[in-house]
Amino acid sequence: MVDKVSKEKRSYIMSRIRGKDTKPEILVRSYLFSKGLRFRKNDKRYPGTPDVVLPKYKTVVFVNGCFWHLHEGCKYARIPKSNVEFWKKKLYGNKKRDKHNQELLEEMGWKVITVWECELKKDKREQTLENLYAQITSGH
Ligand SMILES: [Zn+2]
Repeated sequence: MVDKVSKEKRSYIMSRIRGKDTKPEILVRSYLFSKGLRFRKNDKRYPGTPDVVLPKYKTVVFVNGCFWHLHEGCKYARIPKSNVEFWKKKLYGNKKRDKHNQELLEEMGWKVITVWECELKKDKREQTLENLYAQITSGH
């Protein structure tokens, strides 16, 4: 994989990635793009409409909000205290659907990676993105 982005450009992109509270999926896409990866966004042809589709690596990435996708063991993924039954049904339903979509994608031969919003908070962001890149490109 030839990295076509200059050092200056990359450090500019990284400083933006580190410094700002950008939407999580935009952070992930900017980073992957800065690393020279090319991908499709929100491709509806795939189960669950993955945020990032990398055909070359047969990999899809979901960038999930901890609340809506009920990130297990995460402090941001709490069932609200009012309308408990509604929220339980809604959020567990989302989680079940995510799992189903992941299984479908895996059956189709795709590697499925989920990045959680809480892993993209400023203190963890750089490590998370580096790990993601390594996961995508491992074996290539
Ligand atoms: Zn989380």
